[in-house]
Amino acid sequence: MSDPILVVHGGAWAIPDDLVEAHLEGIEAALAAGWDALNAGASALEAVEQAVVVMEDHEAFDAGRGSFLNSDGRVQLDALMMCGATLRAGGVGCVERIRNPIRAARKVLEQSPHVYLVGPGAERFAAEHGAPLCENSEFIIPREVARLREYQQKTESERSEQLFSAAQDVDTVGAVALDRAGNLAAATSTGGTLNKTPGRVGDSSLIGCGCYADNQAAAVSTTGWGEPIMKLVLGKWASDRVASGVDPAHAAADAIAYLKRRLDGHGGIILLDARGHFGIAHNTPRMAWGTATAGGHARGIQRTAAPLG
Ligand code: ASP
Repeated sequence: MSDPILVVHGGAWAIPDDLVEAHLEGIEAALAAGWDALNAGASALEAVEQAVVVMEDHEAFDAGRGSFLNSDGRVQLDALMMCGATLRAGGVGCVERIRNPIRAARKVLEQSPHVYLVGPGAERFAAEHGAPLCENSEFIIPREVARLREYQQKTESERSEQLFSAAQDVDTVGAVALDRAGNLAAATSTGGTLNKTPGRVGDSSLIGCGCYADNQAAAVSTTGWGEPIMKLVLGKWASDRVASGVDPAHAAADAIAYLKRRLDGHGGIILLDARGHFGIAHNTPRMAWGTATAGGHARGIQRTAAPLG
């Protein structure tokens, strides 16, 4: 028997002041949903799904409704879920019509012999397995139409300065949980990066990059500029450090330092081991995070270093 714990994040870059309240509210709602499940004895998989669905449905985040638009002005979503007990994983990439991509990812994990499904095939699989579809327009909100228009009017150099800056808002969501049975799970869901090329897949839904879980190591979800995170396979790098005996708090900080040092990357990470020890780290101006345990819920948006568990 383990003491359950849930850790969530709502993106790590510069969250503007006028969106801070919305992020905190979304984090609190995600914690409530995930913790209700976990506390009632549900599996870690169920808890991370519940928490991420809430954030996909919340417009503040770059996941589900409210996501960044790609260069065609459409929303394309990626998500991955992984089970630390079995190492089964399920991912969907470049989906445009699955209302909650993380629900589809869970169905791939549990009901498919595959690890990834992308595009229309993923959408067909989701529909056939009971994950509702919707129109792409239902994900698109005026804030993001205006953001894309403004971005596309910039010069090439202004664009790359904005896109690769730590101040760019990127609000991918993620959750890691430990259940009473001692099992870990992780989930990450995203709309990706602003003005991305249609068909681009980021780190979030790639196993070992934006998401990973192994009971013998750790559960992890990352956020930030995806390409450097992918090149370093950062989620697996961090969980391997935990497996080799490093506490998650230090492994999280080490991972972000490695990201910066090796590729000048920006991002954030949440990391949880099977003893319930966790770490949260980022090198961006802000990161939205939350934790839930039997002792209560905590949440925040850091300007500087995040707490160590
Ligand atoms: N990592 C995501 C991506 O590159 C973006 C994010 O974390 O917000 O697709």
